[in-house]
Amino acid sequence: MRIPTLILSVLLAVGPGAVAIPVGAEVPIAGRQIVIATSTVLDGRGHALQDVRLVVKGSRIVSVGPATGPIDYDLRGLTVLPGWIDAHTHITWSFGPDGKNAGSDGTTPLDAYNAASNAWLTLLAGFTTIQSVGSPTDLPLRDAIAAGRIPGPRILTAVEPLEGRGEVTGTPAEIRAFIRKQKDAGADLIKIFASQSIRLGGAMTLSAAQLGAACDEARKLGLRTVVHAYKGAVRAAALAGCTQVEHGSLATDDDLKLLAERGTYLDPQAGLVIENYLLNKDRYLGTPGYTAEGFAAMEKILPLNHDLVRRAANTPGLKVVFGTDAVAGAHGRNAEEFVDRVRDAGVDPMVAMVSATSLGAEALGLADQIGSIAPGLEADIIALDGDPLTDITSVRRVVFVMKGGVVYKNVPAGANQHALGEKISAK
Ligand SMILES: [Zn+2]
Repeated sequence: MRIPTLILSVLLAVGPGAVAIPVGAEVPIAGRQIVIATSTVLDGRGHALQDVRLVVKGSRIVSVGPATGPIDYDLRGLTVLPGWIDAHTHITWSFGPDGKNAGSDGTTPLDAYNAASNAWLTLLAGFTTIQSVGSPTDLPLRDAIAAGRIPGPRILTAVEPLEGRGEVTGTPAEIRAFIRKQKDAGADLIKIFASQSIRLGGAMTLSAAQLGAACDEARKLGLRTVVHAYKGAVRAAALAGCTQVEHGSLATDDDLKLLAERGTYLDPQAGLVIENYLLNKDRYLGTPGYTAEGFAAMEKILPLNHDLVRRAANTPGLKVVFGTDAVAGAHGRNAEEFVDRVRDAGVDPMVAMVSATSLGAEALGLADQIGSIAPGLEADIIALDGDPLTDITSVRRVVFVMKGGVVYKNVPAGANQHALGEKISAK
């Protein structure tokens, strides 16, 4: 059978080879260049550009500046940004058929649909890249999105995390073998739990030798390490040379200074994750790991987390990235964390935008591909109805989403955006 050239090129582009990380992948059919008119662009690197046109060819931005000719998308009157990056999600974590927390490891058809739904809602909310930290169920979702079979953000996944459980976690040699196993399974990064849940007190669950082995082995394999750490584990992760600390609750000012000195990224959560648990308390309570005492502990930790984010923002040189820890109920509402950081922790709105764009990309090792509006980078472009620098709640009003040169959302400002997304936001 004769296959038309156009279809053949699509088949080649999404064939069996297309299972790697999607960043940098070409859009199957490049087509002509697309011109986007703007009045305000926040470029992701801390600059505001006025009245520029963005020219996109294939999956990439080819120019930012004056341009003539017909306009394909008119985003004047909106605030245009690079697609946001969420450094910490659990993209497959969903509620089950009984409406209760079902975790992230389910493999039923419903779990698969829920995971695809989470990805779609996350993309519609303006997040074009996420790091999922992680579950083996991330892998088929990541690869289906990368191949263009379903819509969603680019996904980087840790596959199976290393759960610190004291001595029984294993010897340093066994831990190194576990890290290699994740790499072989297709991990883009390594997730390590070095503290117990904050709901249980947050004590350290790995020795310095165990943590050191994990981060060292990952580094040798060219993988980054993100470490779930509270209290003393924050310092231990920095000293072990790990890439990024997640949460960081109850870290001291000295701990934060050490992170800055070591160049360790910090990804604290000012609100969404705990707010989402409280909002969906009846759906979590009684499921594994969620007790009444745990919920009481979370309510106490929320103001401490506001304080942590405030202190982190005031620590010179500390690289604070944007991550929400989105679990069931939070997917598609990731941008609420911006509101929390700015409103409750006093973070400068431009700093908040940079944390989820160029700095977020740098933390993923992808600064040359995503996170900024600049020639040569992926055309991940979103637009907000409003100015986040003066009204942070405008992050809830994403009216345009382009990922890799493909438009997934383009609605008039003020329009009813997306029935399901609206319902989820309002809940
Ligand atoms: Zn998490």
